[in-house]
Amino acid sequence: MFSFKKTAVITALLLIMALLLVGCNAGKETAQPVTDNKKNNKRIVFVSILPQADFVRQLGGDRVEVSVMMPPGANEHNYEPDTGQLKALSQADLYVKVGHLPFEEAWMERFISTNRDMLVVDSSQSIEMIEHNPHIWLSPRLVKIQANTISAALVQLDPENQDYYLQQKQIFLKELDKLDQEITTTLSGVKGKSFLVYHPAWGYFARDYGLQEVAIEEHGKEPGAREMSRIIDYAKKNQIKTIFDSSQHSTHSADAIATELGARVVLLDPLPENYMDNMRKVAKTMAEELGRE
Ligand SMILES: [Zn+2]
Repeated sequence: MFSFKKTAVITALLLIMALLLVGCNAGKETAQPVTDNKKNNKRIVFVSILPQADFVRQLGGDRVEVSVMMPPGANEHNYEPDTGQLKALSQADLYVKVGHLPFEEAWMERFISTNRDMLVVDSSQSIEMIEHNPHIWLSPRLVKIQANTISAALVQLDPENQDYYLQQKQIFLKELDKLDQEITTTLSGVKGKSFLVYHPAWGYFARDYGLQEVAIEEHGKEPGAREMSRIIDYAKKNQIKTIFDSSQHSTHSADAIATELGARVVLLDPLPENYMDNMRKVAKTMAEELGRE
C-alpha cells in the first residue's frame, strides 16, 4: 500500500518534470526567427555598412534577411564589433565585405573563424582601386560592378531562384544608370571645380563627375600645422567657401579651417541607409555650394 508520503513525492517529481518541459519549449520559442528564416529558405546575409544593406535588399528582395555589422553613426575606419554581433554572425550564409575597409581588414579572420560555412565575397573584386581608397560604394558606376558581384554570390547560394535574382539585378542596374545620369546633369554646371572635404570619402564620386576632391584628413589623422596652412592657402587661391564633412568623422580641423577661411561646414552622409535618395541629395548640395564659389 502506498503511503501518503510516497504519493506526495511522486506528484512533486511529476510537477518538476512538467516545469522542465515548459522551460525547454520556452527556450525553443526564443530561437524561432532564425528557424523561420531557414524554413522560408531565406538566405542570411551580413554586410559591413548600411548602404551595402540597401544594395543586398534590392538584389535579394524577399529571399534575403540582411544584417549590418556597423551601426548608424559608427566610423568605417575604426569600428569594433561586439560579441553579440559575432554570435549572430554564426547564423549567416553570406558575408559581403566592401573590400578594404580598415575594420574589415582587422576583423575578417575572426569573422571567418566564427562561421567557417559562410561564403565571403569581396565587393571590390573587378574594381580598379585608386591608391587603396576603400570608398567604392560612393560611385554609382562602381556600385554597378558591386551589384554584379553580390548578385552572383546570391545565385551561388540559392541557384533555384536564379531567374528572380537576375530580374532584381536588372531593375537595380537600371536605377543606378538613372541615378548616374541625374547626378551628371545636376553637377554639369560645376564641372572642373575642386572641393574641400575633411574625410576623403568622395574621390571616386569626384572622378566620375569631373570634380576634384581635396582632403583635410591625412591617413586618418588630423593634419599637422604645415599641412593646415598649405590647405588654407590652396582654399584661398581657389576661393573655396564650403568645407564638406560628415557626422561620422572628426570635425575639429574642418571647423578651424572654415573659421580661417570664413567658409561654412556642410555635412554629407557617406554611409546612408537609403542610397539613391542620399546620392541625389549629395549631388544637389555640391552643385549649390560649389555654384556659390
Ligand atoms: Zn572612410
